[in-house]
Amino acid sequence: MEIMSAKKQRKFKTEVQQLLDLVIHSLYSNKDIFLRELISNASDAVDRARFESLSNQAVVEDDPEWKIKLRVDRDAKTITVSDNGIGMSEEEVEANIGTIANSGTRRFLAELRDRKGAIPPELIGQFGVGFYSSFMLADKVTVLTRRAGDKTAGTLWESDGSGSYTLQSAPREKRGTDVTLHLKPDMEEYLDEWKIRKIVKQFSDFVEHPITMDVRHEETPRDADGKPVEGAKPEVTVKEETLNSQKAIWQRSRAEVKEEEYKEFYKHISHDFQDPLEVIHWNAEGKTEFRALLYIPQRTPFDFLLPDARHSGLHLYVKRVFITEKCEELLPSYLRFLRGVVDSSDLPLNVSREILQEDRLIRLIRSNLITKVLGVLADMMQKNRDKYVGFWKQFGPVLKEGVHLDFANREKLQELLVFRSTKTGDDGFVSLAEYVQRMPEKQKEIYYISGDAPDTLAQSPHLEAFRNRDVEVLFMTDPIDDWVVQGLNTYKDKPLRSAAQGSVNLGEDDTAASQESRQKAEADCKDLVAHLKKALSEKVKDVRVSQRLTESACCLVLDEHAPGVHMERIMKAMHQDMPPARRVLEVNPAHPLVAGMRALLAKASDHPKLAEYAELLFDQALLTAGLPLTDPLSFTRRVSSLMAGEVTGLAGGASSG
Ligand code: ADP
Repeated sequence: MEIMSAKKQRKFKTEVQQLLDLVIHSLYSNKDIFLRELISNASDAVDRARFESLSNQAVVEDDPEWKIKLRVDRDAKTITVSDNGIGMSEEEVEANIGTIANSGTRRFLAELRDRKGAIPPELIGQFGVGFYSSFMLADKVTVLTRRAGDKTAGTLWESDGSGSYTLQSAPREKRGTDVTLHLKPDMEEYLDEWKIRKIVKQFSDFVEHPITMDVRHEETPRDADGKPVEGAKPEVTVKEETLNSQKAIWQRSRAEVKEEEYKEFYKHISHDFQDPLEVIHWNAEGKTEFRALLYIPQRTPFDFLLPDARHSGLHLYVKRVFITEKCEELLPSYLRFLRGVVDSSDLPLNVSREILQEDRLIRLIRSNLITKVLGVLADMMQKNRDKYVGFWKQFGPVLKEGVHLDFANREKLQELLVFRSTKTGDDGFVSLAEYVQRMPEKQKEIYYISGDAPDTLAQSPHLEAFRNRDVEVLFMTDPIDDWVVQGLNTYKDKPLRSAAQGSVNLGEDDTAASQESRQKAEADCKDLVAHLKKALSEKVKDVRVSQRLTESACCLVLDEHAPGVHMERIMKAMHQDMPPARRVLEVNPAHPLVAGMRALLAKASDHPKLAEYAELLFDQALLTAGLPLTDPLSFTRRVSSLMAGEVTGLAGGASSG
């Protein structure tokens, strides 16, 4: 055995000392991450050795199995993380673990200076501080390392984290590094095998190299019948177990991953018990390199709509090292239903929450993800409509938000919208492109109607003229739809127009004959319209002869620029005392009721029943529009009185006949 050289005492660079003090004296929000940091360093070292071995086979010869090994010594109260990676020469030790080696640490210290020392613990927890995080748990850390290919003995680095460290040469048989933590008295929980297993599973499960540990098994000897032998000493066996699954399946190519493996991994990260609807797995190269494995679930998770949904965001890895579980910065909110992993090759390992929010790389990845996902959805819509409809029923309302929020991708998003319509039937959906494609040439606008359910909308009197002329009308039944329409405004230069708002002009009516008949109807109804306007002046904005009614006697119409019915409801929910928007009452000149009222008005313009009929007409219109009656009692009284008249007539007729 070689003799150890004399110890050399060195002082940490001031910045390192600052960092150490901070780590040691501040409450670190999650001490467990020390292991992640050390394993990640070890994994990097193995990667580098593996890389060097490509050109220099000698690097692997004496120890060909790439591996990270954890050792727990309960008596000495130490944890050691060993790797057979590249190792460090004495100069490298000094340069890497005594000065500031990485940009993350530098950024961290800059932050510290900016905040003049007042850093809340949770912020500290968000910065990885690499190797130095060992000092959260340890009052002494030793590093025994030997550079691959170095003929000289290894190097032993030692420090208690208080200002200085020592360096000396010391033997290590093979290449690699052992980082040993001498645990502080109150940190002994970290000697527990299950604790270590749990941390490895949580943070390093997908590290490519095996992370192993010697596990002790005690077994009492048994006799031939399988009964424990009384008084016999338990047999102790020690078995090296691999703690991580090493399944970085996103690092493999699509062809190499089995469908089952995709599903299993999805369930692991999403906690969903169903299979995913779609797997999106690709490798992005170019301005930024990353691999992404994303999943569209089949169903919205039960907590999806809660503000602090457990599973929102993607898992972020940097070079296979787990960084965070809920990286919301990677996705716009309208894609929040996606689950999965992004593994970047370019981000620094010590990336903090603040950095995530501002980082140019993150923004680049995000826009890449959006493009990819929207592309996959467009493809699904074209090639597998049923599947797309399944997706749409679950996540359509969320995806739609993007139309309003993501201007850059609006064109792509608008192609993904599908609606039920007067022509789709119960199960079908129509996209805007399909709508435009099948609309008659003379139709210049895209019509929609908003309301609660397709069934009720289909019955709406507002649609009578549209149905008669075979003009398709989209049903907007989501509360968010009015907002989406506002964001969209037009599709391919075709304005979106509510069938229930403003006056309608379905194009073909511009013939001389139809214009003439319209003018005649207006002239005929002039007196009735004036009468109704006066009688209902408090309740309606205006009264006019309808172009949209063919069967019903009347309907209520919102102003062209008024917010839609959904929006009105939302606004009312926020301001309870807000009166409903005043609407325009439209009357159907061809309806017998209207004709009758006109006749009565001509005969006796001061007939007392006229005012009552005006009220009834208005109340009917409220009901068909799904709006509440302002005075239900008067309404029922009037209907009862009308019925009484008719019933009496019928009864009289019956008895006399
Ligand atoms: P980071 O890993 O972010 O660079 P650290 O403070 O954790 O920061 O480590 C500093 C440097 O020390 C590393 O960049 C690496 O060069 C070296 N190092 C740390 N651990 C090991 C190891 N197990 N094997 C080889 N080199 C290591």
